[in-house]
Amino acid sequence: MKCDLHLHTDCSDGLYPPEKVVDVSRKAGLSCIAITDHDTAAGLDRARAEGKKVGVKVLKGVELSAADGEVTVHVLGYNFDDTSKYFQDKMQEIATLREARNRRLTERLAEYGMPVDYEKIVAQSSGSGSIGRPAFAREMVSLGYCATVREAFDKFLGAGKPCYVKTRRLLPEEATRFIADCGGIAVLAHPKNIKMGWENLDNFVSRLTDFGLRGIEAAYFTHNIRERKAYTALAKKYHLIVTGGSDFHGGGHGLSIGKRVFYPSSITKKVLGLYEK
Ligand code: AMP
Ligand code: ZN
Ligand code: FE
Ligand code: FE
Repeated sequence: MKCDLHLHTDCSDGLYPPEKVVDVSRKAGLSCIAITDHDTAAGLDRARAEGKKVGVKVLKGVELSAADGEVTVHVLGYNFDDTSKYFQDKMQEIATLREARNRRLTERLAEYGMPVDYEKIVAQSSGSGSIGRPAFAREMVSLGYCATVREAFDKFLGAGKPCYVKTRRLLPEEATRFIADCGGIAVLAHPKNIKMGWENLDNFVSRLTDFGLRGIEAAYFTHNIRERKAYTALAKKYHLIVTGGSDFHGGGHGLSIGKRVFYPSSITKKVLGLYEK
């Protein structure tokens, strides 16, 4: 079973609309995908409707941005109940924090002589999802402030750079419990990005397991074979499943769809319901 369990659409910082992500996945021969936009479930219904139409299984997914002090942690959630008031209220709370961050970022850019029109950035996105720093970076490029998105991050938007705005985010423990409380499967995204030593990561995973963590994204595209093996061993140690994906954004960050396929184990298939039609 060819899968990709980490894909972004233009409901967050991807470039393609949900329908197109599904269509491209089908053409790439994938039989099961998950849409995992940053901090929003806005694209899920559209992607799932398209999946039904073209014969691709589309899992509900989300990638929550969490942080603990200076450490940024992304928590993937799958198969949660997105119809509950609890889920929707919490997602609204997260969206409000992001919106406030974006307003402050807009002010900061103006202070640095790089005014952007935030309403225009919102209008240019699909309008229904979450706006992230990549949308700001693209606008900075189109206004000629920077040559590339990469330069915008390296010089201004990246953590510790002059226009970086700190914002309150869920703790990794909160994000994990939230997904679990909504009946979903919480998975630690791209553990290599957390840049913790092995012992700290082991303790961290052990702690998150107490909050309902069910998996580790060991098969992330930037992990080499040795790292995949090590993260898979860590998953085994705590009885967690292994997931994987491309982090496709439609250019820029991540791989293109179908370039690196994830083949789930039977236990991953079972936990994520991949056998079900
Ligand atoms: P935000 O959640 O709005 O703070 O934006 C974070 C997103 O920006 C990440 O998920 C990446 O997709 C993207 N990002 C972070 N750092 C970089 C970077 N150095 N270059 C390009 N994209 C980045
Ligand atoms: Zn992203
Ligand atoms: Fe991420
Ligand atoms: Fe991602």
